[in-house]
Amino acid sequence: MIDLLVAGAGPTGLTAAIAAATRGMQVVVVDPHPGTIDKACGEGMMPATVDALAALGVHPKGRPFHGIRYLRGDVIAQAPLPTPGLGVRRLVLHDALSARADALGVRRVVGRVDGLRQDADGVEAAGFRARWMIAADGLRSPTRRLLALDAPSRWPRRYGLRRHARIAPWSDTVDVTWADDAEAYVTPVGEDLVGIAFLFGDRARAADRGAPGSAYDRMLARFPHLADRLAEAPDASSVRGAGPFATASRRRVAGRVLLVGDAAGYLDAITGEGLKLGVLGAVCAVDALASGHPRRWERDWRHLWRPYAWATGALLLASRPRPLRRALPRLTRDVPFAMRAMVGWVAG
Ligand SMILES: Cc1cc2nc3c(=O)[nH]c(=O)nc-3n(C[C@H](O)[C@H](O)[C@H](O)COP(=O)(O)OP(=O)(O)OC[C@H]3O[C@@H](n4cnc5c(N)ncnc54)[C@H](O)[C@@H]3O)c2cc1C
Repeated sequence: MIDLLVAGAGPTGLTAAIAAATRGMQVVVVDPHPGTIDKACGEGMMPATVDALAALGVHPKGRPFHGIRYLRGDVIAQAPLPTPGLGVRRLVLHDALSARADALGVRRVVGRVDGLRQDADGVEAAGFRARWMIAADGLRSPTRRLLALDAPSRWPRRYGLRRHARIAPWSDTVDVTWADDAEAYVTPVGEDLVGIAFLFGDRARAADRGAPGSAYDRMLARFPHLADRLAEAPDASSVRGAGPFATASRRRVAGRVLLVGDAAGYLDAITGEGLKLGVLGAVCAVDALASGHPRRWERDWRHLWRPYAWATGALLLASRPRPLRRALPRLTRDVPFAMRAMVGWVAG
């Protein structure tokens, strides 16, 4: 019997595997995708995430960013981060996490959790028997469904699309441009590479129905400044999508299984904190297991979740009525301490 089975080799699962291996646990990670795993993501790591990974010996190569800018037309509101964040291509992050996991003796296996049995001593899934299991299998977590923990979410449905462009970053900030029914995130991720992610809801999807062009191109057309800047820049990746974002779980601990990262519950990518929840959560969950108090993970998850849910929920609510949404960049520019406070809040 192994000590820990991890479902999902995303950032959460691999961080959990690394944290557990550094504590001497025997760990297996299963994921249905072989090789380097890509995913739709804005790829902006907040300073707390960068620090947590560095403490585990993971130093992905990326492009530091020093603040967040909100833009609408000529209005620019900007707030610095207390310490730099890091824009990192998901492929680079996956390779850095995998290399560290491999060096610590973690076994990475191509497989899928599609059934699960547990008793007083252990849990069986994907052909392994383990003392504990961490389910880090993402937004639509199959493990959460197997455990009958899916809960309804009351938040409106929102989605994301992302692609990369081969162009030198024009700013050392993550730029968030607000259109009437979508946001565009531009994250510097390399010397000559930026990630572009669009977040939007059903209103934008309905408006686009039947319109010509790809969903990504239709989104880009909503942001003429950005479209102009990228006009000559070659695409550097294919389009990936995700959503609906808002998912909920009734609990985070079910017997010998702990749900972590997006699998534990997620609201929206609007504040760019998903990686922070996953990475910091993975460390806390492993701490709870190592201390012999797995139930502590539920309490620790709430400590991580609440500030995220408050910031994300507030921003989602404030940006729904169109007049307020249109005014948001100007308001944040004119009340700079509010923006600095929010950026400080999501950074740490
Ligand atoms: C458009 C967009 C922009 C975003 N921007 C940012 C940002 O700028 N900053 C930020 O911090 N966060 C951002 N996020 C959120 C971030 O991407 C997620 O929170 C993060 O990827 C969660 O990591 P995870 O490991 O929990 O889940 P995932 O990355 O989804 O990994 C889950 C893994 O589980 C595997 N899996 C699935 N089913 C099974 C199974 N049955 N058995 C075993 N394994 C399975 C999958 O193959 C996958 O590899 C963004 C998200 C989106 C969609």
